[in-house]
Amino acid sequence: MPSPHPSSPPAPGGAARDPAALPPGITGGPDGRAGRVRPPRHLADLGLPERRAAVAELGQQPFRADQLSRQYFARLADDPAEMTDLPRSSRQELADALLPRLLTAERELACDGGTTRKTLWRTVDRAYVESVLMRYPGRVTMCVSSQAGCGMACPFCATGQAGLTRSLSTAEIVEQVVAGARALARGQVPGGPGRVSNVVFMGMGEPLANYRSVIQAVRRITEPAPAGLGISARGVTVSTVGLVPAIGRLAAEGLPVTLAVSLHAPDDAARDELVPVNRRWKVAEVLDAAWRYAGVTGRRVSIEYALIRDVNDQAWRADLLGRLLAGRLAHVNLIPLNPTPGSRWTASRPAAQEEFAARLEAHGVPVTVRDTRGREIDGACGQLAVSSGGSIVRGATPLDPANNPIAVLAETPATRRARGPDSLGR
Ligand code: SAH
Repeated sequence: MPSPHPSSPPAPGGAARDPAALPPGITGGPDGRAGRVRPPRHLADLGLPERRAAVAELGQQPFRADQLSRQYFARLADDPAEMTDLPRSSRQELADALLPRLLTAERELACDGGTTRKTLWRTVDRAYVESVLMRYPGRVTMCVSSQAGCGMACPFCATGQAGLTRSLSTAEIVEQVVAGARALARGQVPGGPGRVSNVVFMGMGEPLANYRSVIQAVRRITEPAPAGLGISARGVTVSTVGLVPAIGRLAAEGLPVTLAVSLHAPDDAARDELVPVNRRWKVAEVLDAAWRYAGVTGRRVSIEYALIRDVNDQAWRADLLGRLLAGRLAHVNLIPLNPTPGSRWTASRPAAQEEFAARLEAHGVPVTVRDTRGREIDGACGQLAVSSGGSIVRGATPLDPANNPIAVLAETPATRRARGPDSLGR
């Protein structure tokens, strides 16, 4: 396999100095601090006690923080004029102080009859991130970004190509979910009013490289109102390239979220190329961390595997993966490779995909093939990409505001009869 990332493995000395050091070429940093600007403070960045203190600083009664929180998390209000339980004279002041606009929808694209919608968001410092809402019968999944860009440099992923712009704040992450919840509550998504049931950290970025904000966001997403949105933690999935120390930290949080590990190869030779951070933490270490996570949380770990023709889809790799996972609390999600600009790789042939799945099943490993929702709008896995300069690299056609709020750009028979959601509710 040609190597687009010819950097050598980290020097052992370097690794010993900093247990979380990353290989050259990977710009994530242990806590994703590539950023320049911090977005303004928002209610969703704060726990309830801090919100009360912030409201008290404005000279307001602390319980106003609870009211404002309910407006935001339960009523999903975004207009201070609607917040009629707050005194008219202080609505605007409270909203200005604690509900600053963090994300502006720049473009929105839809497919699957409007039930898959990708939003391109602009942050206050003109970074761009995307989120995708996917409505299935009986459930709605929000796929959210945790960083603008990504520092992990996986060569088959569009987001990985532009590098990391900056990590998102807690509230910038939460806002993506709230926006989806709002659109659903207001009946703007075909299928009638609804709620977000699942949140997957599978948009742009490496969530565990923005650890603190992501954990806080999970808390806000899962805590009941007025503290948060009250979505079941079991419906939340955090997906990682395999940052081993952070997987250990996550296990200790006591949050019963699902861990997804983007493995993509069972052997270090292939994984070193496909997921460059593997040069720092090898397959065996990543899987050990995953099994510890499963042990501590009792949650089945999802092993993500993008099938790439003649690169990682050989029968022997299926058998090797099957042996590594047999008897473990694990489940494999096979993802047909989604096309990305300039990529020389393509999805596996259907027969190879079938055989790969069958061999895993022969080892007793549960397998699903992921629905590749959103492909036509570049909203599928690995297709979320906007350049760090802010120009849109791919896939976005502006929404005509004079028209329907959803531009239905493409709907194919294949997407209409797409497979059902996988184990993560996508
Ligand atoms: N950085 C995290 C979160 C991103 S999740 C992670 O890597 O897990 C996005 C998922 O889609 C990951 O499993 C990723 O490896 C996968 N993916 C990326 N590019 C893809 C592509 N072109 N086709 C299919 N899956 C892809």
